[in-house]
Amino acid sequence: MSQLSNIGVIRDIMARHGFSFSKALGQNFLINPTVCPRMAELGGAAAGVGVLEIGAGVGVLTAELAARADKVVCVEVDGRLLPVLAETLADYPNVEIVHADVMKIDLAALLREKFSGLEVVVCANLPYYITSPILMSLLEQQLAVRSITVMVQREAAQRICASPGTREVGAISIAVRYYSEPRVLFQVSRGSFLPAPEVDSTVIRLDVRQTPSVNADAHAFFQVVRAAFSQRRKTVVNSLASGLGIPKAQAAALCEGAGIFAGARAEQLSMAQFGALAACLQQLQ
Ligand code: SAM
Repeated sequence: MSQLSNIGVIRDIMARHGFSFSKALGQNFLINPTVCPRMAELGGAAAGVGVLEIGAGVGVLTAELAARADKVVCVEVDGRLLPVLAETLADYPNVEIVHADVMKIDLAALLREKFSGLEVVVCANLPYYITSPILMSLLEQQLAVRSITVMVQREAAQRICASPGTREVGAISIAVRYYSEPRVLFQVSRGSFLPAPEVDSTVIRLDVRQTPSVNADAHAFFQVVRAAFSQRRKTVVNSLASGLGIPKAQAAALCEGAGIFAGARAEQLSMAQFGALAACLQQLQ
């Protein structure tokens, strides 16, 4: 079926299946016909590739992925969409819909089971209410995926792709850069969805690194990153003291050991400085 971005086609499918949008599940379906082919191309859907999608909706992106890749496995939590997808994706035998919550399913096992012998990419128009948890779950599990191409809210994209040392940077930007190289691909206006959300969107791609960008223990690294950004307006020394539950003098010693000046704020630190803080924290523990 080639018209899955057409409003009339979507409304007809919904009426026949008695389907109504769930706001709680972040159901804003794409109706701009140019977006999904572009996402599928830039997301690396091609021969020899398996694609993991999260959230099929009526299958508009799934169909574009399936037309290019060897196999598409899509995790969709809303059981009401299963009969819809059986109809809309009937022409694509290389698609499998897995009825599950992406935050609860064992993704490593799923990838092993479904994509043996294929290079794997993730491509999805994410439900916005769990963008960061999904991205962090995909990255922290260090799944064998080459890249993660996702549509997210524009503000979330700015935070996720922000460089260390800039105002927009936050814990999520540092975490994403530890595991991957993020880049902005293209912008998508709110009018491209049914129903239209209150914000615009951006498609980003995270090229997953073979090894983390910083040579630091992941647990200690994320402990200091979370603590450092726990109170954005405070200095790193104060944030580390309260975030790690240690005396201020000890937090100051950590910063000194990592070569960080006492008045610095988390957004001013480089990846290497977070790494140095993690190393000092490990010595302390
Ligand atoms: N891919 C479709 C499109 O572009 O039109 C739908 C995108 S819509 C923004 C998000 C989709 O994710 C919905 O189909 C929703 O039911 C699904 N979803 C929401 N929460 C989910 C979860 N925890 N696990 C899996 N899918 C989820």
